[in-house]
Amino acid sequence: MKRIGLIGGMSWESTAVYYRLINQAVRRRHGGLHSADLLLHSVNFAEIVACQTAGRWDQAADLLTASARHLEQAGADMVLICTNTMHLVADAVAAALSVPLLNIIDATGAAVRRNGCAQPLLLATRYTMEQGFYADRMARQGLTLRIPAAAERQRMHDIIFQELCHGVIREESRRAVLDIIARHRAEGADSVILGCTEICLLIEPQMQDGPLFDSTALHADAAVALALA
Ligand code: GLU
Repeated sequence: MKRIGLIGGMSWESTAVYYRLINQAVRRRHGGLHSADLLLHSVNFAEIVACQTAGRWDQAADLLTASARHLEQAGADMVLICTNTMHLVADAVAAALSVPLLNIIDATGAAVRRNGCAQPLLLATRYTMEQGFYADRMARQGLTLRIPAAAERQRMHDIIFQELCHGVIREESRRAVLDIIARHRAEGADSVILGCTEICLLIEPQMQDGPLFDSTALHADAAVALALA
């Protein structure tokens, strides 16, 4: 089994989900007491958020690159950045590694394509919905993302940073997100991407109709597939 390296803590609420999903998948495959060979470097999220709000993506890239290098030096055979937003600096981090960086956008896009969908609605932080890196990388896979309207983007962003990253789950927010999904489905979205690793804490596939792609689960699956290949 290959050793999985996780850069987590962005936020730790979703890193805990990765840890559980990866270990559950290994147990499903191998049974008994088998569990993942895994290293986790959990960063101080406040430092990352300070870089985000100041627009200092270069500083954030340096922090995550240092983290990724530590994981590689400690024996990781692959590295995952456990957040969609910070994939804004994924190319810089990948360039500093000699082991693969498993990209969450590629893992999610591949699942969308496998399921025959082409026009997914993207639910994510404002950075992910607005800065273009996510849509551009999806476009390379032939996918056209539907991006929520400005007020919807702000609502999503606030739910993520003011609630989900603090471990707060509110029914009113769940209703608001389901309303955004319903509106975009009516306007032609053929599927939904949970493009923030905490949204799975709020929205489960059976709460709405139609294909839904959870980036957290798909990224964790990609790691297990490579680890057990
Ligand atoms: N975990 C979130 C994501 O997947 C947001 C936190 C962050 O800004 O990294 O985008």
